Amino acid sequence: MPDQVVTETAPCADVLVDLDLPPVALHVCCGPCATAVIERLSPEWSVSAVWHNPNIQPSEEHARRLESMQTVAADTGVPLAILEYDADRWLEECRALLDEPEGGRRCAVCFRMRLMRTAQWAVEHDVETIATTLSISPHKDVELINAIGAEVARECGLRFLIEDFKQRNGFQRSVQLSREMCLYRQDYCGCLPSRR
Ligand code: SF4
Repeated sequence: MPDQVVTETAPCADVLVDLDLPPVALHVCCGPCATAVIERLSPEWSVSAVWHNPNIQPSEEHARRLESMQTVAADTGVPLAILEYDADRWLEECRALLDEPEGGRRCAVCFRMRLMRTAQWAVEHDVETIATTLSISPHKDVELINAIGAEVARECGLRFLIEDFKQRNGFQRSVQLSREMCLYRQDYCGCLPSRR
């Protein structure tokens, strides 16, 4: 049975949120991907990172990736909201799709679940724009991510940043920054089927 961890961190006392910049709730899939995306968005946005990744199994792996993201948040000064690790619900939603290949229909459900929870957090915190680090991965379908993000944002009355963060050497920059920060880099997407 997966752990059910429900926490939310307040911004650290020493975090300076730039009130002159528009706020964005950035769904972060892991620390390494977050590095280059935070760097790219920060000149124009006041970024709040939102961690909601109930797809990651087993729970020890989830904890390890979260720890890496906490290092990035501490290093960049970006506030990090850690939402529930609702792995049971992820499994419920994806159970019929476990045999799908990576990149198939299960991923669409998985993206939507994580982005919808990010959008709910944004609504609760009066943030009108959401984004995700997911498009920095060369293994993910950027058009699908952007379509789902835009749909979720529309349903919640928000705006979604249509982006392809791997462009302009985004992925390579994330590898470089993760090395510099000595971050753990996973070798599978997150769910158990992706680990086969
Ligand atoms: S392969 Fe990755 S994106 Fe697809 S369902 Fe698994 S964890 Fe989610």
